[in-house]
Amino acid sequence: MSKNVEVDLPMQAVILDRKARRNPSWSRDELILALDLYMRHRASLPGKDSPEVTELSKVLNQLGAALFQRTDTSYRNTNGVYMKLMNFRRLDPDYVAEGKKGLTRGNQDEECVWAQFASDPVRLVAVARFIRLGISKDLSNVDLAGPDEPGIEEAEEGKVATRMHRYRERDRRLVVEAKAQAMKRYGRLACAACGFDFSKQYGVLGTNIIDVHHAKPVHTMLPGEKTNVADLVLLCSNCHRIVHSKRTWLSVEDVKSALAISNLDGT
Ligand SMILES: [Zn+2]
Ligand SMILES: [Zn+2]
Repeated sequence: MSKNVEVDLPMQAVILDRKARRNPSWSRDELILALDLYMRHRASLPGKDSPEVTELSKVLNQLGAALFQRTDTSYRNTNGVYMKLMNFRRLDPDYVAEGKKGLTRGNQDEECVWAQFASDPVRLVAVARFIRLGISKDLSNVDLAGPDEPGIEEAEEGKVATRMHRYRERDRRLVVEAKAQAMKRYGRLACAACGFDFSKQYGVLGTNIIDVHHAKPVHTMLPGEKTNVADLVLLCSNCHRIVHSKRTWLSVEDVKSALAISNLDGT
């Protein structure tokens, strides 16, 4: 049958309706939690109706609600969770080496999450634990349902970590404290990566202007742990933007090296 065959209007409506009802694709946070379960039972995966799959389905629904995803009875049900575990099967060299295939239809994000976390079990466990705590509100009372920000690439650790990061570095009390400490120590507020000083460039209009960046990965923080001012760095808005412009957020050192290289190129 030709691909271009015209679909009549009622049929189009059915297709559109199906699309609208289709569950949103799995977020990075969800894939991390699924991979965590997969790795814990890599040798013998739990069945569709097992307590493990049922528990993860429940957690994913809580996460969906926290992030204001649409959730209904089909959302991340045990069937969907089990299928996702089978999607990871196809990427598992241990499994494929036995000549088996797993579920071949999967999306690219699974491959990224596998590549970033499967070989680093310690980090995977820490990030999965962090996401679970984040939803259960044990970690803080951050509103995870806030909008995404343009220019901020979602962290490798997912949406919960991204929003928690932004929340922490905007904490008014911490921002005031970080700036006060820098003023006391250096007598000015300058970007830790490029040295830009707003007040030097803009005069009185630039007074007290600088971004504050939380350099410690949020998933490494323990429940109830307060942000330490020593973990905050001052960055100009350009450098801060660069830090968050890639999926693997850059370090201040990365930005410094990039600047050094581009300066060399310019000479
Ligand atoms: Zn800068
Ligand atoms: Zn930041």
